[in-house]
Amino acid sequence: MSAKELHTLIRERIRIGQLPGGPGDRTYGGKGSNTACACCGHTITCREIEYEVHFRSLKHAFSMHLDCYRMWWEECRANECTCSTASSTASSTHIRNA
Ligand SMILES: [Zn+2]
Repeated sequence: MSAKELHTLIRERIRIGQLPGGPGDRTYGGKGSNTACACCGHTITCREIEYEVHFRSLKHAFSMHLDCYRMWWEECRANECTCSTASSTASSTHIRNA
């Protein structure tokens, strides 16, 4: 899968709600545990780096490849830039606490 295809896939997953559109409250990096990546859908093997993103508001964590995490994070930041102008007070408070 090319970087462009992955980017499109991540955007689509955020749009339909399969992936959160904002950065997690806690992120853990570690060795892959043969879990399916929440971004690209491929297995994260033990030879790869797995990022686990946790949200206070959600019960389950999202596991993703390091590269997928980076791309998802870029997408979250891009979303924030476009929509935070109208309601900046609420979201900026949240970021400061995180
Ligand atoms: Zn992935």
